[in-house]
Amino acid sequence: MSFKHCETAFMSIKENIVQLQKNIPDTVTLVAVSKTKPVAAIQEAYDSGQRIFGENKIQEMSEKWEQLPKDIQWHMIGHVQTNKVKFMIPYVTLIHSADRRKLFKEINKQAALAHRTVDVLLQVKIAQEDTKYGMPLTEATALLEGNQLDQYPNVRVVGLMGMASFTDDMTQVATEFQVLEKLFIRFRESKNLSTLSMGMSGDYQLAIENGSTMVRVGSAIFGARNYH
Ligand SMILES: *Cc1c(COP(=O)(O)O)cnc(C)c1O
Repeated sequence: MSFKHCETAFMSIKENIVQLQKNIPDTVTLVAVSKTKPVAAIQEAYDSGQRIFGENKIQEMSEKWEQLPKDIQWHMIGHVQTNKVKFMIPYVTLIHSADRRKLFKEINKQAALAHRTVDVLLQVKIAQEDTKYGMPLTEATALLEGNQLDQYPNVRVVGLMGMASFTDDMTQVATEFQVLEKLFIRFRESKNLSTLSMGMSGDYQLAIENGSTMVRVGSAIFGARNYH
């Protein structure tokens, strides 16, 4: 895995996207995670045909949205504070990180005010670590059962999202993906779910082997992030 990262660092954004598109099946959607990366890098990916970008901060996403072509589909992949929801409602295409009822309520409220329906993924906690966000599995199951989601008519749950533990133990990562795949399969038909968002630069192949239909890939496209 780390060898692959070194290799991609010497390739252009365009070459990385072409390579990734070759590595993933047509049925899997690639979200290019552009957080912390400049507008010029996103434009280069756009010029290579990429149209879906993922960001984890609403402020940053809004600034990029203003400067870039309007046919880009912006996905929110990071933790969302309820008081910031209203700022992304005008243009966000998919929120991957709907992870608590309070957030569902706020997205529903703001979407209704904007006279739209917002597509979201229910983010489920599958990692062993305490640091990862996501609704606990039992709570997520309860929310999907019956008709509890009807409380949020302007929110459309189109699938599930999960992040595996940050570990080299690929058996553990696979096990965590399988937990989410099982939940996805269980509710796929009754809740009309189409999207299972799992897999990042280091584990997207494993995620696809375990049923992922949407991968969120950042550093394998844009290179390592520099947070300074
Ligand atoms: C940053 C991030 C990614 C992309 O991570 P890479 O390892 O750079 O591919 C994917 N998903 C989420 C939720 C992220 O925050």
